[in-house]
Amino acid sequence: MTTPPTTGPSDTPIAPQAGAPATPTDGKGTPVNAPKDLSADVPPGGVDRPSREEAEQAVRTLLRWTGDDPMREGLLDTPARVVRAYLDFFSGYAIDPASLLRRTFSEVEGYDEIVLLRDIRFESHCEHHLAPIIGRAHVAYLPRQRVVGISKLARVVDAYARRLQIQERMTAQIANTINEVLEPHGVAVIIESAHECMTTRGVHKPGVSMVTSTMLGVFRNNSDTRRELLSMLNRPGTADF
Ligand SMILES: [Zn+2]
Repeated sequence: MTTPPTTGPSDTPIAPQAGAPATPTDGKGTPVNAPKDLSADVPPGGVDRPSREEAEQAVRTLLRWTGDDPMREGLLDTPARVVRAYLDFFSGYAIDPASLLRRTFSEVEGYDEIVLLRDIRFESHCEHHLAPIIGRAHVAYLPRQRVVGISKLARVVDAYARRLQIQERMTAQIANTINEVLEPHGVAVIIESAHECMTTRGVHKPGVSMVTSTMLGVFRNNSDTRRELLSMLNRPGTADF
């Protein structure tokens, strides 16, 4: 039997919300789901987050689950290290990806061709096993008047990668965010990655990569545009400038 959650649904949006929502209280003046302090050393979230000490205690429980002794010297500081590592692995929850794309440039001399940022390396974690997903994303869009600083595209990839993910959703999230904020003629996101939950456990199949893509606008509707993108992707690597 499972214990029902004592707070709201755990899939409440966790990105910081724009504006100041009305703060409901519990009747005693204590804010319910009050916005979290972004300067705290824990990421914000709409979920009922445990304290750092509770998180460290959970790591000790998992250490005991391996069959080891969390009190032996080599493991004493491990819970604190794991909790700090989680702040890094999952720092994307504190970032609003759309806000990264709000600053655009319109002086582009009529540039109206594909902009492609390829081989954006990312690290993520699968939400089913908490195992690493290591991969590369290729992000393209066909601008409509406005372009965005290219590093921002990589930041959007990271903002979604540094969360618990499945690759299909991450691919769609990146494409949809670019599409909604920049309103370009089209967006294409292609992700290739290796899932350690598949290489180091389960079926144990190293060397397998998973490829997903989301094509929107002209990349979906116009086969010439899609072909041009694929030929840009297939050009020899230029990563060693
Ligand atoms: Zn997995």
